[in-house]
Amino acid sequence: MDSTARMNPPSDSRDAGAPRLLILGGTSEARALAAALAARGGYALSLSLAGRTRNPADQPAPTRSGGFGGVEGLAAHLKAERIDALIDATHPFAAIMSGNAAQAARRAGVPLLALVRPEWQPVPGDLWTEAADIADAVEKLGPAPRRVLAALGRNEVRALEAAPQHHYLVRSIDPVEPPLNVPHARYIEARGPFAEADERTLLTENRIDAVLSKNSGGDATYGKIAAARALGIEVIMVARPPRPEGETVGSVEEALVWLERLRHQASPDRRGV
Ligand code: NAP
Repeated sequence: MDSTARMNPPSDSRDAGAPRLLILGGTSEARALAAALAARGGYALSLSLAGRTRNPADQPAPTRSGGFGGVEGLAAHLKAERIDALIDATHPFAAIMSGNAAQAARRAGVPLLALVRPEWQPVPGDLWTEAADIADAVEKLGPAPRRVLAALGRNEVRALEAAPQHHYLVRSIDPVEPPLNVPHARYIEARGPFAEADERTLLTENRIDAVLSKNSGGDATYGKIAAARALGIEVIMVARPPRPEGETVGSVEEALVWLERLRHQASPDRRGV
């Protein structure tokens, strides 16, 4: 789709004519992009959060919270708010939202960019076992009881109940309620970033022999992966769900370039208007 010309050209009045951006957030990249755009000025920004986390981090842009009501709801929102460009900066595992964003943007005729941080790649010394999804990862822990650090979201953690023989140390941002229906589980509520040295201490003190992790990418939660490598501990690494096709960048800087290009291409001067 040649969507570039759809962006509203900025007018003399900054507020009235500034391109209207909706950033689907819930990640540090979304926050960083919003902060960079707010600092530059010249865009009318809004950031959307799913509203799952009880105490979400402060955001540098006007923020709305809660689902849109599927593809239809998001497409209607894009039209009602006259959004010029949609940035999907949700977590790489937020597959439903990313799918909805792709469909809704198409339906509403709004340019879409996905901002997706690169995956972690194994390096020498890593003991990774790849898993297709969380259920597969739990199965790959094997039948014998193990001591597992599971860094999972509230929606995902129930999968551990399929293997009640293990001792789980579950780390999540919000409390796991109700507790898991397994005999051995302890809980840590914490929000990254987590330093490698602290992760080593955590793994050692709790005699962890397997780490169950999503391949989230980024620095904030890589500490446990580096610590596991240093200690010779196996990591069961859950692969990312498939993404919809579309324009994708891996960094905030590239997203800024994309947005500037979009604005430039849509400006009256460029179109000779
Ligand atoms: P999901 O399964 O893909 O989305 C489920 C539903 O939540 C969506 O259909 C949508 O509801 C709503 N939703 C998700 N993200 C939204 C957003 N940014 N703004 C408004 N509504 C949103 O997503 P998820 O895994 O629950 O993730 C929810 C949020 O947490 C995302 O913003 C994601 O970036 C963040 N997060 C997720 C993970 C993870 O591992 N999944 C980790 C860290 C942060 P409607 O259909 O009603 O619009």
